[in-house]
Amino acid sequence: MGLQRHTTARVRHELRRRVLTVSSTELLTPRMLRFGFTSPDLHDFASASHDDHVKLFFPAVGGDADGRESCMRDFTPRRFDRSQGTLIIDFALHESGPATHWATSAQIGDTLEIGGPRGSTVVPDDFDWYLLIGDETALPAIGRRVEELRADVPVTTFVLMEADEILDFRTKATWTPRWIARNGSPDDASLLRTVLADYALPNGEGFVWIAAEVSVARSVRNYIIEDLGHPRQWTKAAGYWKRGHADAHEKIED
Ligand SMILES: Cc1cc2nc3c(=O)[nH]c(=O)nc-3n(C[C@H](O)[C@H](O)[C@H](O)COP(=O)(O)OP(=O)(O)OC[C@H]3O[C@@H](n4cnc5c(N)ncnc54)[C@H](O)[C@@H]3O)c2cc1C
Repeated sequence: MGLQRHTTARVRHELRRRVLTVSSTELLTPRMLRFGFTSPDLHDFASASHDDHVKLFFPAVGGDADGRESCMRDFTPRRFDRSQGTLIIDFALHESGPATHWATSAQIGDTLEIGGPRGSTVVPDDFDWYLLIGDETALPAIGRRVEELRADVPVTTFVLMEADEILDFRTKATWTPRWIARNGSPDDASLLRTVLADYALPNGEGFVWIAAEVSVARSVRNYIIEDLGHPRQWTKAAGYWKRGHADAHEKIED
């Protein structure tokens, strides 16, 4: 297929802060809250890859009144509609933290400042198949990828959920979803490795994308590369949060 195949592109964006206004809210599942944002600042917003992130600026829980203790968290631009000027961001709700606190109390008309994306790493849509693995925090990026992939390309998703929290994505790709209910199990890594043990990687050249809690993403990446023998250059893993640590994330590499 020539030398250009599977070439990852790096795109830089001018780093800008934007002030957005909440224009809609929708509870997609009991633990996934979708926000629509509008703003004139979005006229030149750009997000080239499904796993881009924007920084959201929140008042710190317990911070002082003059805003000095604001803090940032990373979120996925789930969908951007330039013609409507709307940006969608999905929040996976959990027990605590400034982002979760903000999401559970925000109302239509509230404002939120964002920064970025600073850049995108674009994995081309020229692989024979895709495997996307993650937990609820990865679901926005997974959903966006499934929706954006080319027609008929096989894509399988393994997503951890508490229970009964499945979502539907509109796609022209050939999408095979696997929803994995925790049903009280605290061990995401074991759950994912168990279902992956029953899964045969398709033939051809595929790309595997993983995002979850740091130790879970690392464990699944090791399994994909070491046990299943998938090429590491066609595997990308990221820790989207770290148990017991606020605002923690990691790129997982060797
Ligand atoms: C590139 C990237 C993209 C991301 N995109 C999204 C996205 O689109 N939607 C989304 O919901 N999240 C996304 N995340 C994850 C999100 O940034 C973290 O979950 C973040 O910690 C949430 O901030 P918080 O203020 O709610 O909690 P923090 O203040 O950061 O953490 C408070 C406590 O909660 C724990 N915690 C954090 N997240 C979770 C969780 N999901 N489940 C259980 N415990 C948790 C922490 O370990 C800590 O003990 C993304 C992360 C990255 C790196």
